[in-house]
Amino acid sequence: MDVLSPDERAAIDEAVSAGRVEAVPEKPTKERRGREPCPKVALRRKIVAQDTKRGKTPHQIAEAIGVKVQTVYNDIYAVGLSRGGRKQSKGDVAALRKAGAAKAKSARAQDRRRFKTVPVPMGDPSTTVAADARRTLFPGRVFEPDPGEPLLKDGCNAAKIGGDVLVGWLKGARIYTLTLEERATCPRACAHWQSCYGNSMPHARRWRHGPALIAQLDQEIAALCNRHERILIRLHVLGDFWSVEYVEFWSRALERHPNLFVFGFTAHKQGTEIGDYIAAVRGRHPDRFWMRHSDVTGPWGTFTVDFPTAQKRIGDAVVCPEQRDGMEGSPRGTHCGNCGVCWASPVPIAFVTH
Ligand code: SF4
Repeated sequence: MDVLSPDERAAIDEAVSAGRVEAVPEKPTKERRGREPCPKVALRRKIVAQDTKRGKTPHQIAEAIGVKVQTVYNDIYAVGLSRGGRKQSKGDVAALRKAGAAKAKSARAQDRRRFKTVPVPMGDPSTTVAADARRTLFPGRVFEPDPGEPLLKDGCNAAKIGGDVLVGWLKGARIYTLTLEERATCPRACAHWQSCYGNSMPHARRWRHGPALIAQLDQEIAALCNRHERILIRLHVLGDFWSVEYVEFWSRALERHPNLFVFGFTAHKQGTEIGDYIAAVRGRHPDRFWMRHSDVTGPWGTFTVDFPTAQKRIGDAVVCPEQRDGMEGSPRGTHCGNCGVCWASPVPIAFVTH
């Protein structure tokens, strides 16, 4: 409602048209918000862009200008470059639009799991390896990427993961998994180097990491994102991000495919080059990239306990409901597809060693 009388309004209009007062834009906040950073930030981004193009790493730049490495990653993103200085495309607005369009179809989501029984975690690793082991215990189960066989497996083949998201705003998304070679792709600092649960997975098909894997993944992701409304990829059933280039591959895939979502766990901690880069990608895609750091608590953390528990929470962490069901012998059939804690919130998650 106008609080001015018609006479007052007419007097103001007349003063404005005569140029005696300056008109205030109708929505000043929107105009001011704009896209222009403040001069200090603009200058920093200019330096970051120049140094990135010269080939300096985000850690080197952060050290040189005295800011956090995450700030540098965000600046690189803001100026439209990738870590190697290449141009990026825009993606997340389109992602949200696609998410909305997919909502109508999500009501049809069904549990397609082929098996519904999973091992009960007891809190102790069944097999351990020597501290100097560098590979899987099952080298015969590591395969070269082959266009004749998909690298990304339908989650319906994994009872604890499931093939479809059945709850929440991501309901209807198809779940796929990727399995790499444990230890060969993992940071040596991983607390489960010797007790990795891959030691008890003699049948898992692991893919050899390297450029051939990235090239085939690129094609498979594009094909799946074309075929389905939304794709949720679980990284990595075994293995980890073996290089910054591989993290960058996922960053680019998220930019290219607005209907791609990713969740999983990494042993790379924040404060390491790969760990910081993973955190930066998560910061850029908070609604699509949910990688947690192992052996830490706090937001986006996850840790293991070496005893079975019926507790729903340990400290500030949620005990994985799928494992809790197993320990309780519950018939609820909780699995990632009907749980979703991993992508619903940054709350830390506790797992029982198995
Ligand atoms: S917390 Fe939920 S989504 Fe995460 S691993 Fe456990 S069952 Fe899966």
